[in-house]
Amino acid sequence: MEHKKVEDVKLYIDGSFVDAGGSGYFNNLNPFTNEVMNRVAKGGKTDIEKAAHVANEAFQNGPWGSMKQKERMAYIDRIADLIAEEVEEIAVLESLDTGLPISQTRKMVSRASENFRFYSRMVQSRMHGDAYQVDDEFINYTVYQPLGAVGLITPWNAPFMLTTWKVAPALATGNTVILKPAELSPLSANKLAEIMVRAELPKGVFNVVHGYGETAGDALVKNDKMKAISFTGETVTGKTIIKNSADSLKKTSMELGGKSPLIVFDDADFERALDAAVWGIFSFNGERCTANSRVFLHKSIEDKFVEELRKRVDKISIGDPMNPATEVGPLIDKGHFDKVTGYIDIAREEGCEVVQGTVPGAMKAGNFVPPTIFLNAKNNMRVCQDEIFGPIMSVIAFETEEEVIEMANDTEYGLAGYVWTNDIKRGHRVAQAVDSGMLWINAQNIRDLRIPFGGMKGSGVGREGGHFAILEFYTEPKAIHVALGEHRIPQWGK
Ligand code: NDP
Repeated sequence: MEHKKVEDVKLYIDGSFVDAGGSGYFNNLNPFTNEVMNRVAKGGKTDIEKAAHVANEAFQNGPWGSMKQKERMAYIDRIADLIAEEVEEIAVLESLDTGLPISQTRKMVSRASENFRFYSRMVQSRMHGDAYQVDDEFINYTVYQPLGAVGLITPWNAPFMLTTWKVAPALATGNTVILKPAELSPLSANKLAEIMVRAELPKGVFNVVHGYGETAGDALVKNDKMKAISFTGETVTGKTIIKNSADSLKKTSMELGGKSPLIVFDDADFERALDAAVWGIFSFNGERCTANSRVFLHKSIEDKFVEELRKRVDKISIGDPMNPATEVGPLIDKGHFDKVTGYIDIAREEGCEVVQGTVPGAMKAGNFVPPTIFLNAKNNMRVCQDEIFGPIMSVIAFETEEEVIEMANDTEYGLAGYVWTNDIKRGHRVAQAVDSGMLWINAQNIRDLRIPFGGMKGSGVGREGGHFAILEFYTEPKAIHVALGEHRIPQWGK
């Protein structure tokens, strides 16, 4: 399949596409061919300082900080419309950059447009304070105000969707933004910058600084002008960012890794549970934070379920991400491929039977790992404890509800969880007992934009999504106390 030529990518600061202030470019590879696709401006501390200055100015002294809500929302709606017009173009870039199948990136990009529409509605309907009457003496009320300039740091696994998930509420609530995209997936961030140009967003309101996490990302986290950092990525990076943001006492939001359980009881709808288990780990090439990487099967259905899983992995379509029929594409890069395949060796050493699909011979240049199942896994094995972040499902058998809850919770993570049973009481009981931020009963991962998104334990701190993003993260609540009468004031020293 013919692949589109991709232009070099610059930084976007103060409404202009610019070179990095001194450190040149790095290469961006196509995960399907491992050939250099384009070059990316390598931003560093000076670029972050420049962007922080303009983002802060745009908030303090530009039109954005004082703009009427209706006018601001017109920009947000316009951005949504422009994304919707360019779904195909952005989806193609995203698939080239990440190896995610085009049928999936099309859906993600449409969702990205909806993120802006949703936050336009949400800010208009929910960004308001409360009033607290205190008898006839006081009225207290709250207002929610934007923070100022905020830093958004995103991973490579679903770049455009995750970026808009942060940019939309940040801008809609009136903040200005510096985005630091993952170095492995820089393309769609610049597409978003182009959309901001077309939407005629005031200069300095949205900025993109590409570069390495340890340099550009680190400088963003430590920059005094940044009022908050919203981060999505690995748990270990999240810990570093929290530590590094402490000196400037920034607000941080952490969406981190996962090792989510999917539990199938013997009374579950077998076929639907099977479909959900397969889709939940192999979609997004398995590079999905909420993937059901641990599948717990009740002993009495284990053999039959495993037999069906074996058939499914054999038939999943592996191929060129640009082919609409492809279900699983190549992993993001060679480094990640080595990490994921390393776990296949570990699984064998730990005593699992490894069942895999087959990568077609013509695909050998790409970072392909076929859909893989680790059978006879035990929850305490490394392959059941570490986040592998690839198309790999560990299958663990259980006998009782208590035992499976204990195993589901015996992990550092707590992002998502899935329970399959037709016993309604048990469904709720188990969902409430599993320590995860998000649980689904008899459902795959379908998420209404209004619900809180995030994890507990090693999977995150704080929640974004819905009104949580606007009221709990991207704004500061301010309480204003008004005396209505002549309440008593101590008259010291009178
Ligand atoms: P990383 O943590 O490696 O990187 C995420 C971002 O942080 C990148 O932009 C990276 O830059 C940057 N970064 C790295 N080090 C620093 C630093 N010291 N200071 C500031 N920024 C830094 O995550 P991945 O990109 O590997 O993404 C995969 C991970 O994301 C998985 O663990 C996955 O579970 C998680 N994730 C969580 C989600 C959730 O909502 N809970 C959703 C999606 C993914 P660079 O690219 O240059 O390294």
